[in-house]
Amino acid sequence: PFDVLVVGGGPAGASAAIYAARKGIRTGIIADRFGGQVQDTLGIENFITTKYTEGPKLVASMEEHVRDYDIDIMNNQTAKSLAKKDLFEVELESGAVIKGKSVILSTGARWREIGVPGEKEFKNKGVAYCPHCDGPIFEGKDVAVIGGGNSGVEAAIDLAGIVKHVTVLEFLPELKADAVLQERLRSLPNVTVITNVATEEIYGSDKVEGIRYKDRDTGESHEIALQGVFVQIGLVPNTEWLKETVEMNKFGEIIVDEHNMTSVPGVFAAGDCTNSAYKQIIISMGSGATASLGAFDYLIRN
Ligand code: FAD
Repeated sequence: PFDVLVVGGGPAGASAAIYAARKGIRTGIIADRFGGQVQDTLGIENFITTKYTEGPKLVASMEEHVRDYDIDIMNNQTAKSLAKKDLFEVELESGAVIKGKSVILSTGARWREIGVPGEKEFKNKGVAYCPHCDGPIFEGKDVAVIGGGNSGVEAAIDLAGIVKHVTVLEFLPELKADAVLQERLRSLPNVTVITNVATEEIYGSDKVEGIRYKDRDTGESHEIALQGVFVQIGLVPNTEWLKETVEMNKFGEIIVDEHNMTSVPGVFAAGDCTNSAYKQIIISMGSGATASLGAFDYLIRN
């Protein structure tokens, strides 16, 4: 069995595995797709020490760093269940069962997509999901934020300080964000809020040039010319496969303590799949390190 079995090969999992291997203990990583969300990222400008890099490049150096240690990478393998017997057992879609004395869950998250024409085509060409990451790209430009919940309104406030103008589009008749956020939003001169509208299409040629939406009252379609669209309708943790095994919050995020341990002793979690306040590469790597040190502490005590 592995001493530390990491499930998930994004920044959190890579960091956890390296920290474990450096303790000289048997470490394995199961990953559906090594690199995780970073594989899908174009420019990265907030990974400290590196002014600019690109997702696939960062993934390549992550993999090189992991391979520098005796870490067993089981790539293109999807975990489908976790059970506690004598040891922890992770069952894969392939039917194989991998055992560990401790487990680190780092299966990340995915942005909920709106699924309208243009969203896929213009990803990284005007369609964005993370204002902390991509906000500065739209400096001085016109953008829309789809979604009027807390994350959408926070994104709009954040973007309003950078871009020329922000239009918030909400499907329901009113915004769902906290009152203080809505107040702050309405105090900003360069923000327009449109409610009760359904996004129909994001259009452009090689980059985003506008958005078309339908007024749900009148059924009329309208267009806004703009250069960017931030989709903010939720970040979904990849934790469905864990069902009832570890405690989660109402969003499906795994609840962890200050050692990144879950409700099950010996099972740790790190990165975007947890209830961490913010979801970023650097934060995931930090929490992967914490989870790994937590797992090591657990192993020497048990
Ligand atoms: P992930 O990166 O999501 O990795 C999860 C891993 O788990 C993957 O290997 C996946 O294949 C695997 N996995 C999932 N389910 C299973 C399963 N059942 N079995 C086995 N393996 C599984 N952050 C920044 O800091 N700066 C940026 O500029 C930036 N830009 C971004 C741009 C885009 C388009 C996106 C989508 C995100 C961006 N982020 C950025 C956010 C950042 O990518 C995430 O915060 C970070 O990748 C989270 O790391 P993680 O290891 O927790 O999860």
